[in-house]
Amino acid sequence: MALDAFSEFRCCAWRTVSFRAAEMAAARAEIEGAHPGDAIVVSCQRLEAYGFGPCDCAAPEQVTGLPAIERLAAVAAGLESVVLGEDQVLGQVRAAFKAAPRELRLAADLAIGAARALRAETDFDSHSGHLLDKALRLSTLQPGGRLLVLGVGAMGKLVASRANELGFQVTVAARRRPEAPSFEFVELGRVPSLPAFDVIVGCLGSGAGEIAPRVLPTARLLIDLGTPRNFNVPSGPGAIAISDMLEDEQQRPHAMARRRKLRARLGELLKERLSHAAVDSRNPVGALRAEIEAIRQAELIRYRRLHPGVPPEVLDAITRSLIEKVMHQPTARLKSLDADTAREFAGLFTAGS
Ligand SMILES: [Zn+2]
Repeated sequence: MALDAFSEFRCCAWRTVSFRAAEMAAARAEIEGAHPGDAIVVSCQRLEAYGFGPCDCAAPEQVTGLPAIERLAAVAAGLESVVLGEDQVLGQVRAAFKAAPRELRLAADLAIGAARALRAETDFDSHSGHLLDKALRLSTLQPGGRLLVLGVGAMGKLVASRANELGFQVTVAARRRPEAPSFEFVELGRVPSLPAFDVIVGCLGSGAGEIAPRVLPTARLLIDLGTPRNFNVPSGPGAIAISDMLEDEQQRPHAMARRRKLRARLGELLKERLSHAAVDSRNPVGALRAEIEAIRQAELIRYRRLHPGVPPEVLDAITRSLIEKVMHQPTARLKSLDADTAREFAGLFTAGS
């Protein structure tokens, strides 16, 4: 795929941070309706439609070409998340592109590849559970005491274990009991009858609807990590939402500088990948490399499944380095051959050409 193929790549974005359930549902319906065939990425801050070609929807923000693919890479790398470098968002991006047309998946693979490379070389020590730390710091409440987590999805689990690390006595609530609950479990319907907590954290998904504070046990602090919002309460000293944490982060010059630096590095990694992808497929070296990369990607999916204990970044780095070693000399020699011989040689590897 040539580099200019991405000049039409486009992102239409809506800010949805701490949207209420009804607003979120309306925005989602509008965006999905206006972007048939696009990949819709839902993160805790934005709804974004990625596709090819112009779009005349009412998105407050629209970027095209390189900036759009850079943006996707930054989202996938967690550089746009409140907790810098959190890795949950990578799965959300992958899920959004899973059923997308091939062209879109190729663009996403490049962005995800660059995001993974950045993660592999960067020491991100935070996962989404550290949203709890941020919220506590904002509230000035000391860790400790009783904490209730609503929801046992990915976010709920991370927050529960982080709360445990911080010394809270943790209770989790959900509609259904998890198979092997790590903490005291109650059914969601029983929550209103529970005694008081120090902190209640909402990590319920979009299907949960909004919870009025009067049905919750009393708490000194409500932390709303739901997308859309879980709690129908305005932000204040006793109620903190993702938008409050985002605002706080934006007022930290060091944090913002680090994000800018990481974005710049990610841009370099992305450009490397784009220029590899840009090698015209009629060029025998490019065709050969593209074919080998496609095999590597397919095998990676298998390896990840076979070896769930090995971090994907490690599998990626090992396979990439092995192929680089094996292909270094043949690639250099191939480039010095006359075009017909080179094409014939490359043809031994490439499918159906
Ligand atoms: Zn649009």
